[in-house]
Amino acid sequence: MLDNKIAIVTGAGSGIGRASSLKMAGYGAKIVAVDFNEASGQETVRLIQEQGGEAIFVQADVSNSDDVQRYVNAAVDSYGRIDIFFNNAGVVQKFSKLADTDENEFDRVINVNVRGVFLGMKYVLKVMEKQGSGAIINTASTAGVKSEHSASAYSASKHAVVGLTKGAAIEYVKQGIRVNGICPGGVETALTKGVEQAFMSGGYVPEEVGNMRMGRYAKPDELAEMVSFLASDRASYMTGSIVLVDGGLTL
Ligand code: ADP
Repeated sequence: MLDNKIAIVTGAGSGIGRASSLKMAGYGAKIVAVDFNEASGQETVRLIQEQGGEAIFVQADVSNSDDVQRYVNAAVDSYGRIDIFFNNAGVVQKFSKLADTDENEFDRVINVNVRGVFLGMKYVLKVMEKQGSGAIINTASTAGVKSEHSASAYSASKHAVVGLTKGAAIEYVKQGIRVNGICPGGVETALTKGVEQAFMSGGYVPEEVGNMRMGRYAKPDELAEMVSFLASDRASYMTGSIVLVDGGLTL
């Protein structure tokens, strides 16, 4: 389905990013795995190679412009093009009501989740524009279409990802570039463990657990399937879509 496509994946060291890297490699893509965490990113590359796929690792902070240009250049230098960009790295906030939210914490969440997604698209789009083709998938969240208690900074950051996705989709449709977003609800990852712990320490039972109609978190692999589809030519008529993969959470 993705034979010989070149795919950059940010946040490739864990959760949805790792599962999508492995799945897209399984469908034939070559992966440029990007993560802040060197050990986990390298482990993703090893897992891809173990299943017979091809991948390289680039250590980068997605909120740093020099780092972003470095991973984009690494993809172009190694493979000559960028067909797929899974713009996925993100962080959750330390849960607190708005007036109690630390200003530095607000900046940290916005920096990674909004500036990181913006910078990634900014530099990848320059390459895709020259090619006249490409597929971008941004990781938003159900918090990008509704909000959660004690998570207004996170929710604001994910609403911004939705805005960036729609804006880029409009601006680059004529260049043959499709830009879509995915909205996971609860996913079994290191990140949701952090969510659970944060909620537990605050004594607050997350609304999302009660609303999880399937009674379970998603497996990262269930998100990876949608990411691979949106990355492929099978999704040729989809751009600007914000796709819920949330087990009915937002119902
Ligand atoms: P999820 O898969 O649910 O999005 P995870 O916490 O499992 O959440 O994965 C997020 C990944 O993003 C981690 O591997 C983490 O190291 C990476 N990451 C977080 N912040 C940055 C950053 N600023 N730059 C690059 N990678 C980052």
